[in-house]
Amino acid sequence: MPIYEYKCKNCLNSFEVYKPINKKDDKEKCPICESYETDRLLSQFSSNSNMCNISYSSGG
Ligand SMILES: [Zn+2]
Repeated sequence: MPIYEYKCKNCLNSFEVYKPINKKDDKEKCPICESYETDRLLSQFSSNSNMCNISYSSGG
């Protein structure tokens, strides 16, 4: 399942969501402020990245 990145227009938080391609145009709710004013960002794949770190926000 592809991963999509969204950015919240309300609090400017960016977050990632796994979901099917046929759901890619659905609005996603911001996990921080629970706003649906979110934009889907284009996925970018870089071929020369050597980074292995994946940052997760530790929401509580
Ligand atoms: Zn937000």
